[in-house]
Amino acid sequence: MSKHIFITGGVVSSLGKGVTSAAIGTLLEARGLKVQLQKFDPYVNVDPGTMSPYQHGEVYVTEDGAETDLDLGHYERFTNAKITRECNVTTGKIYHSVIQKERRGDYLGRTVQVIPHITNEIKNSIHRLATPGIDVVISEIGGTVGDIESLPFLEAIRQFRYDVGRENVLYIHLTLIIYMRAADEMKTKATQQSVGLLREIGIQPDVLVCRTEKPLTREAIEKTALYCNLPAEAVFEEKDVDHSIYEIPLIFRQQKLDDYIVSALKLESTAEDLRPWSRLVETIKAPSHEIEIGMVGKYITHQDAYKSVYEAIHHAGIANQARVKVRRIEAERVEEAGAAAFLKDLSGLIVPGGFGYRGVEGKIQAIRFAREEGIPFLGLCLGMQCAVIEFARHSCDLQRAHSTEIDHTTPHPVISLMETQQSLQDKGGTMRLGSYPCDLLEGSVARKSYGQARISERHRHRYELNNRYRDTLTEHGLILCGLSPDGQLVEIIELHDHPWFVATQFHPEFKSKPLSPHPLFRDFIRSALARRGQP
Ligand code: GLN
Repeated sequence: MSKHIFITGGVVSSLGKGVTSAAIGTLLEARGLKVQLQKFDPYVNVDPGTMSPYQHGEVYVTEDGAETDLDLGHYERFTNAKITRECNVTTGKIYHSVIQKERRGDYLGRTVQVIPHITNEIKNSIHRLATPGIDVVISEIGGTVGDIESLPFLEAIRQFRYDVGRENVLYIHLTLIIYMRAADEMKTKATQQSVGLLREIGIQPDVLVCRTEKPLTREAIEKTALYCNLPAEAVFEEKDVDHSIYEIPLIFRQQKLDDYIVSALKLESTAEDLRPWSRLVETIKAPSHEIEIGMVGKYITHQDAYKSVYEAIHHAGIANQARVKVRRIEAERVEEAGAAAFLKDLSGLIVPGGFGYRGVEGKIQAIRFAREEGIPFLGLCLGMQCAVIEFARHSCDLQRAHSTEIDHTTPHPVISLMETQQSLQDKGGTMRLGSYPCDLLEGSVARKSYGQARISERHRHRYELNNRYRDTLTEHGLILCGLSPDGQLVEIIELHDHPWFVATQFHPEFKSKPLSPHPLFRDFIRSALARRGQP
């Protein structure tokens, strides 16, 4: 039978519950345990796929094509858990399912209520993940304790322990200990109140993980323990990290958080082995090189809009013993000031995915500069589409070439809506989503990078390279080096009269992990280092 860990958050949002949950997953895996992770999101959208990146940050795509919360990206990067569409449950998804059952008549005339019908639906989604072989299911409850909208989730996890037995459930509360600079004092009151709110609804946390700017004083630990009604040994510190989030499993291990969890849940486990993570963090702390690359995007001001891309760059840097600084460049500013102003001293350029017309011309200008100046370039999804438009306009003399997403009346629709998308009405969950295979051209840069002929990568798009333009593009030197196995869809393009120029219709960033960096990001950074004379 699987054991369960529930992770709640208190005091403020953005405490890093996702990373904390994921790091606990790392710790348990390092002790030979098999974990599964899931996130509950209290908002009413069925999934975040229709939300603006400004509202929500990145939409993370799973292998099976679900558009999910970016915390699931942390789960995949920190653990080996198989993350699927079942691992992200929103209020919208729960209600959608309950209402469908009600319409079908499944409730046999009963009044359908938040308790028990909504809470049962939530509990079912927890049980569903507790499959044979899974030792621990870690469920993160989004939002902050005290939010009205997260109450059904908290009630469901309270009942869950009642249903499956005390010894099978552990409640971990992530909270903030406030350091008041003026008084040079650590303040625990907000944490006490947050735990008070949890106790009011019947949940006594078993473990507190305290985010803190400074190391917790003994006094702060003891006071927190006393007023939150748990032993001081159950209070753990999560101090802001100096270098990387990948230090967090090691920080927890130093305090023996894994021992505490394993003993509280009476789990049988091996001795811990975090050596790969220690080596990783050593490399991060003492890199041999440093470079700066540019990223030209539309949502560049939002910290989390391209989360997995930033992480994949970080991993690729580690693989090359390099610290990679990313200059975030707003695409619209490139339109105003020209690409050279931003890019001339950079070692590489990434243009990530996106939607809509804003900033597209800036991205195209930036790609033109990278192509003409021999700056290593990696294009992702819309980034690839912009590279095709740029090449059509400036290398094939197809003036006003465009994507029909942006210009319906273009005389040269080099990027156009996929046939399968033409008749769709609904926006939610209807893009080409998830993992698809792709065959790589022998002798291509991409083929060498991956070291295999067939790959599979995750997608999230409606538009594609228009096959009517394949001949013109290839005649002028564009190499269509990755195709769907039936040959119908162009998945990767590259140039050979350039140090490194590769762009993908898919999102390689979703599959990059710190311990197995993505080959395209790795080789992009390697060529960026070579440009700087630091191979
Ligand atoms: N807007 C483009 C499309 O739908 C690209 C999508 C993306 O970059 N994820 O095809």
